[in-house]
Amino acid sequence: MNAEIITVGTELLLGQIVDTNFAFISQRLAEAGMNIYYKTSVGDNEKRISETIKLALSRSDAVIITGGLGPTVDDVTRAALVKTFNLKLVLNENVLKHMQSFFDLRKIKMPQNNLSQALVPNGSTVIENKNGTAPGLIVPVDKRFIIILPGVPSEMKPMMTESVIPFLKEHFRSEGILKSRVLKVYGLGESRIDELINELFRFCTNPTIALLASHLEVKIRLTARAKDEKEADELLSKLELQLRDKLHENIFAVNEDTMEKAAAMLLTLKRLTLATAESCTGGLLSSRLTDVPGSSAYFLRGAVTYSNQAKIDTLAVKKISLDMYGAVSKQVAEEMAEGARKLAGSDIGLSVTGIAGPDGGTLEKPVGLVYIAISTDTEMLSKEFRFSGERIWIKERTAQSALDMLRRYLLQH
Ligand code: ATP
Ligand code: MG
Repeated sequence: MNAEIITVGTELLLGQIVDTNFAFISQRLAEAGMNIYYKTSVGDNEKRISETIKLALSRSDAVIITGGLGPTVDDVTRAALVKTFNLKLVLNENVLKHMQSFFDLRKIKMPQNNLSQALVPNGSTVIENKNGTAPGLIVPVDKRFIIILPGVPSEMKPMMTESVIPFLKEHFRSEGILKSRVLKVYGLGESRIDELINELFRFCTNPTIALLASHLEVKIRLTARAKDEKEADELLSKLELQLRDKLHENIFAVNEDTMEKAAAMLLTLKRLTLATAESCTGGLLSSRLTDVPGSSAYFLRGAVTYSNQAKIDTLAVKKISLDMYGAVSKQVAEEMAEGARKLAGSDIGLSVTGIAGPDGGTLEKPVGLVYIAISTDTEMLSKEFRFSGERIWIKERTAQSALDMLRRYLLQH
């Protein structure tokens, strides 16, 4: 079954609001196994809405429209629909009663223009709107369906999930479902991943594979088409195993999971405690660690030591190391990690120091130069990174890399 989405509103075309209704509706349709081939946004103009609906209905089994459904003069979706298909309007008592009680409850007299909302096209099914007055409508036209929903997201969403999806599933039953799983990768660039999984990428049609890169991770999205959830899960798990075989521990999380959660799970599993010392991330690393519920079990302490003096006072970094190597150096990173560990009495100390920019870089120590160190009572590990991008990106990448280094250390120990 092919569905298509039309979002109505001049605000959308002017870029004043982001089309979140489209994202929500298309996600729900995809989960239900429906194909979405087109999406159109159109302003509050009856003629253009009419043209858009006609075109959509010529190529799709179901057309879902949101917005412009209210009682005011700029809400022209219903009028456009009625005129385009010459629909006959009849008064719907249920809608009228629902609206009346909506206003009674709020002790407001129902405005006269709301009455128009109780007039619905003959033969259509009304979708109740629990959070507002404008009802949704399912209008059959030549074995196809036009479905209109209010633009207000809090009204539209429950109507979509509770009424529209079940209705479409019932009518277009046989085609099964779509289910996605996201594997998150860090430490390998998009093109390297592409190289490693090339074979799978090119020949896999169910599930399909898509790569989405951002500055903090590369997401690999697997999407399976199957007759039911169980079969989809089996297909996804099989491909996930094949991908893990190629990408190993570079995959750090699945779906909504995060790097901090991956590190947290390992710390918990190994019953180890952690302290941090941060310079250029200004607390971001500790903040992310404490985003995980229950982090107090292993995260003992975090120090933000931005100045040289703070590094000396709080972490017992040696003044001579700062003078000789500078605050952004392997030496100082290691002393910071050790200082944090000893100060907190934790099993592991994790430190970051770097130049976030945009100023402060030199030829020898450019913006984006970062050192991360891990200290335990038997080991010292440190690594140099060279990140690019604006200040916030460098901070975010530094925190992400520190968590990743911790995660990899824990995997090996
Ligand atoms: P109302 O009865 O409130 O007039 P309506 O169905 O006529 O509702 P619109 O007037 O088009 O809907 O939009 C109402 C509000 O809903 C907009 O101001 C906007 O905040 C939000 N909205 C509308 N369309 C979208 C969309 N596609 N994505 C996100 N928000 C939207
Ligand atoms: Mg409106």
